Amino acid sequence: MVKYRSMFHDIHEECGIFGIYGHPEAANLTYLGLYALQHRGQEGAGICSSDGRQLFVEKSMGLVADVFSEKRLRRLPGSLAIGHNRYSTAGSSVLKNVQPIVANFSLGSLAIAHNGNLVSAADLRTSLEEEGAIFQSSSDSEVIVHLIAHSKGADFYERVAHAISRISGSFSLLILREKELLAIRDSYGVRPLSLGMKDGAYVIASETCAFDLIGATYIRDIEPGEILIINEQGLESLKIFSSHRKAFCVFEFIYFSRPDSNIFGGINVNEMRKQFGRQLARESVTDADLVIPVPDSGVPAAIGFSEESKIPFDFGLIRNHYVGRTFIEPKHSIRHFGVKIKLNPVRKLLEGKRLIVIDDSIVRGTTSKKIVKMLREGGGAKEVHLKISSPPTIGPCFYGIDTPTRSELIASTHLLEEIRKYVTADSLSYLSIEGLKKIVPDSHNYCTACFDCNYPISFPGERLKQMEFLFR
Ligand code: AMP
Repeated sequence: MVKYRSMFHDIHEECGIFGIYGHPEAANLTYLGLYALQHRGQEGAGICSSDGRQLFVEKSMGLVADVFSEKRLRRLPGSLAIGHNRYSTAGSSVLKNVQPIVANFSLGSLAIAHNGNLVSAADLRTSLEEEGAIFQSSSDSEVIVHLIAHSKGADFYERVAHAISRISGSFSLLILREKELLAIRDSYGVRPLSLGMKDGAYVIASETCAFDLIGATYIRDIEPGEILIINEQGLESLKIFSSHRKAFCVFEFIYFSRPDSNIFGGINVNEMRKQFGRQLARESVTDADLVIPVPDSGVPAAIGFSEESKIPFDFGLIRNHYVGRTFIEPKHSIRHFGVKIKLNPVRKLLEGKRLIVIDDSIVRGTTSKKIVKMLREGGGAKEVHLKISSPPTIGPCFYGIDTPTRSELIASTHLLEEIRKYVTADSLSYLSIEGLKKIVPDSHNYCTACFDCNYPISFPGERLKQMEFLFR
């Protein structure tokens, strides 16, 4: 996966989380859940379990399957567990940033697993440090732990509510204590979070594909602004934050979530991507012989495009799925190696053809440029018409998708024709923002800031003041 560095923070929380309450195989099922959510983060993984008396934690850098052995999973007893897959920008000693973060405080122990990005983290961190807090990591998420520990609420739930009221940004959050599990979603509902059931045990996951793997049934989403408490008394839902405006991340549909997941109220990601492709075909018809996707994320949209345009679909680029992080790229000997190691054109299929190539997005434009070149040189394509199943990416994301700074986003600094020239395609078209909004149900409930710079969550200061006012 391509990685970007944003101007806002060093560390990003573009992650997958999973939790389970009341199952004798809690850690094993969490391991499987994280396995299904691997696409949401590959830097590190961790599980924290509870046997009702104390918390146990195991975490390391690396992929879920590498981090956990049977032996390691046996060190995680109990019927409660939470897990986390981390996606972060590279850093020297990042093990300390791998979650769940476990801490002891006056009311016992707690562990948290966080997916999202706190826009107010830097300010809060400074003020907490001034109050004497000592941070172990550079992760935004540790701010939440300190806020809970420093909060003066009457009981744990009040403390959590108060801590949550002080943070702004996107957060789908799991908190594990000795005897209970809490699931929390910010009032905008930026990142997905679903509740399910397995053998009478409650499960929570970033995406429903994790439920499918463990054979859990989907119940509902955690509501925006909800704190869901799961303990011996059953489920209790606190709705302390009114959800004035929802801001589900539309990029979860475009790129980030898995196509077999149903998110944001049960909408299937694959179906959405196919619809984007159909809409793109309605908006920009080009005479061509073949529609091919840039695998994997371009596949559903290319199928939709082909169905709508009646131009045949085929796999003209084959992806090697076994390219790992440890792969060492030769420096000068082979040009464009980065994309070549991942994708290879099927020359017998492409030679002499006029191609429509579908990808889900262009960020800096470097991938597209290499793909177009590869299709012409390696594939022998006669024409390459690049079509993108999302609008031009013009705004960096401050809510958890790892995009580069605005100046590095090619569409924010270049006109369509300039981008076409840069990627050397015969033609280039994007899905229109109107087209995107037509396809997404209740699109007013979505954050589309990456396409229109309309940021729904205000930046440090404003919202904090607003929340402090609410809790005075
Ligand atoms: P670029 O070469 O910078 O234009 O990157 C475009 C490619 O990156 C597309 O093929 C996308 O599927 C993929 N992509 C888009 N957003 C992200 C992201 N946040 N993280 C990783 N890859 C992405």
